[in-house]
Amino acid sequence: MSLKTFAGGLHPPDSKAYSEHKAIEICPLPDELVIPAAQHIGAPAEICVSVGDLVKKGQVIAKPKGFVSVPIHASTSGEVIAVEPRLHPMGRPLPSVVIKADGEDQWDESLEQNNPENLDAEALKKILWNAGIVGMGGATFPAHVKLSPPPEKKIDTLILNGVECEPYLTADHRLMLEESERIIDGINILRKILSIDTAVVGIEANKPDAIEKLTAECAPHNITVMALEVKYPQGAEKQLIDAVTGRQVPSGGLPMDCGVVVQNVGTAAAISDAVRLGHPLVERIATVTGPGIKEPKNLKITIGTPLSHLVEFCGGLEGEPGKIIMGGPMMGQTQLSLEVPAIRGTSGLLIFRKGDFSTKPAGPCIRCGRCISVCPIHLQPTTIATYARLDMVDEAENYHALDCIECGSCTYICPATLPLVQSIRHIKGGIMAKRRKS
Ligand code: SF4
Ligand code: SF4
Repeated sequence: MSLKTFAGGLHPPDSKAYSEHKAIEICPLPDELVIPAAQHIGAPAEICVSVGDLVKKGQVIAKPKGFVSVPIHASTSGEVIAVEPRLHPMGRPLPSVVIKADGEDQWDESLEQNNPENLDAEALKKILWNAGIVGMGGATFPAHVKLSPPPEKKIDTLILNGVECEPYLTADHRLMLEESERIIDGINILRKILSIDTAVVGIEANKPDAIEKLTAECAPHNITVMALEVKYPQGAEKQLIDAVTGRQVPSGGLPMDCGVVVQNVGTAAAISDAVRLGHPLVERIATVTGPGIKEPKNLKITIGTPLSHLVEFCGGLEGEPGKIIMGGPMMGQTQLSLEVPAIRGTSGLLIFRKGDFSTKPAGPCIRCGRCISVCPIHLQPTTIATYARLDMVDEAENYHALDCIECGSCTYICPATLPLVQSIRHIKGGIMAKRRKS
């Protein structure tokens, strides 16, 4: 039977064998946690604790600034020993709270447990906002905002993203295998918030055990599990919607424009914890992997844990590190140091050794057209990148540069090793700056 998918995209080696059969382990707490106020799309939260304060796990340490923002919580109990800029995974120092763990890991007693049956949609959304729930596939968009479409946008379908199309990453795979009841509970809460019945979990066919398990467990809840062809970037929202429903999100539009809300399976699990246990988003599953790690693992990590601590728990570095990436190799963020903390969007830590990747210098475009054939948005990456290099902002805008989802497929496939996505990212910044001025 042919599996559903989207047009375009490519098939990089999935390299998941490093960790796909490794059960989730709990990474022990470090002595100190560095918790940045900026861990989501939208306005960074405002720090509301001071040096010397004693905090409990789950206590708010930074308050949201506006609707598109979420609070940040202490990830363990202990003492605030610094409030200052610390190196952030984005590559620059940003305001952070440093907590010296007291080793008790005591939850804030004021956190409330709830039965979702007894709450309406507004009350449930408020709980998710207070718990700091954001998209855990890496996008970190606040969940309560996604779940608040304007009245004219009628939502009829919830899609759960269990695709995990980034090579190397296996955290969502293990979560689906090991903690499926949390995911299903989260789906039921999401359906209640959206007042809809239709929910589809999309999973790529390279996870047959997860497909089999969730299919059996979801059936009594009238939740569909759909096996999808293995293709990158199927985990991107627009491509997943296309693959599952055949609907196209219009240029410049959002999933709600075609009646869909997409949430990651990890987000669904966090939603269950937020409502039933009252637990804010202070921990997550992440894959620590790659040829530069001695013992690749899937870990339950505490937000704010330094990457070096995760590496140490995985047996240390294998060889000399050549590239450190937070997330997957296609859309992840290159890191300057292992001293940055894991944050809410940290789906993985990937380490390559020197010599594991090509350092071939970029050559001239040979007009092969491969970048165009793989682009999932049907853009012309070579043309937009040329305009970017010439700083021709209007021309790049006319070629829909802003629709680029920065999936990196064009850069990956280019035989001339041109840094296409980097050029396009640069010109997107130029277009946005122009729009702000006009
Ligand atoms: S142009 Fe953008 S969306 Fe298209 S392949 Fe390149 S990075 Fe992906
Ligand atoms: S893939 Fe590279 S070489 Fe081929 S057309 Fe695109 S930019 Fe040019």
